[in-house]
Amino acid sequence: DILIKTRVTEQLGIEHPVIQGGMQWVGRAELTSAVSNAGALGILTALTQPSPEALLKEIDRCRQMTDRPFGVNLTILPTIKPVPYEEYMAVIVESGIKIVETAGRNPQPFLPALKAAGITVIHKCTSIRHSLKAESIGCDMVSVDGFECAGHPGEDDVTNLILLPLAARRLKIPFIASGGFADGRGLAAALDMGADAINMGTRFMVTREAPIHDKVKQAMVEATELDTALIYRTLRNTARVFKNSVADKVVEIESRDGPTNFDDIAPLVKGTRGRELFEQGDLEHGIWSAGMVIGLIDDIPTCRELVQRIVADAEAIIADRLSGLLTDSRRDTLEERHAG
Ligand code: NAD
Repeated sequence: DILIKTRVTEQLGIEHPVIQGGMQWVGRAELTSAVSNAGALGILTALTQPSPEALLKEIDRCRQMTDRPFGVNLTILPTIKPVPYEEYMAVIVESGIKIVETAGRNPQPFLPALKAAGITVIHKCTSIRHSLKAESIGCDMVSVDGFECAGHPGEDDVTNLILLPLAARRLKIPFIASGGFADGRGLAAALDMGADAINMGTRFMVTREAPIHDKVKQAMVEATELDTALIYRTLRNTARVFKNSVADKVVEIESRDGPTNFDDIAPLVKGTRGRELFEQGDLEHGIWSAGMVIGLIDDIPTCRELVQRIVADAEAIIADRLSGLLTDSRRDTLEERHAG
């Protein structure tokens, strides 16, 4: 049996230190239950459901597909249509879900209700200052999202090689490494840098169970680390997406003289186009979030195969490669210390 035990696996009651992060249109019961059944933590994405009532039904549907723990993500960022966040949150609490991932705005207004319901709150942060803030207001864990990540990386452009060791130095609560993770090397490195788990979005999109068109998965297999684009930079709502003609067009509109008017790009980027793209497989129909990690993805495994491979590879790296780098005398000293 492959087992890596951390504060995150213990506190969330999961087998492996691997979490599937929130993903608009992708985080549905099919994927979430497959990830949880693989011993990792699946997460439903609340805003993928058209209403709070639909979310409640999706939570029930997921419960029929797994008896393992799973969570719900609620992202609070600018949207084209106003979102009734309070109602979504009320439904999450009412459903009996025990793990919630928040992202975007400060989750403080929701914390009293979440804590009263015994919910573990993981807040996704793209900077150390936001991570420290999340810790200070009572979040249980943070997901530290480096510049490599898909979706919204924030505006500081700091990669995980810097963010994660900083998080290890400054945070007391456990943190999850997010952005750029797809394999056992990444998991071992994240653990080395002080994280207690990895969070993967893009990698889980390219699995058999992800409920998106095969053409999208295939495009991500074929893509390299150079095939992402940063859009909405001029609006300070930066998002990393797959580099297609629509992303190029948005960047071109943003590069024009004068301030960008979101209305000029809204028809290109609206979420409903992304949903249609995932359903129909027309790769130039809209935009979709993808991380630089597409450069590391070259197959479409099941979630179980993927999680097993990542954990087995990480375990081998820790046990063989890392300890094998120590000189014999150093290893003898360590073994004596352990024996003593
Ligand atoms: P949507 O259709 O409302 O908007 C499409 C995109 O435009 C989103 O990225 C949104 O952030 C951005 N946007 C909307 N209004 C804006 C404004 N006034 N100024 C600047 N940018 C604006 O959203 P959707 O695609 O249905 O997604 C729903 C929610 O999920 C949004 O909050 C979105 O940001 C979020 N999301 C998050 C990630 C992530 O990586 N964290 C990825 C995809 C979507």
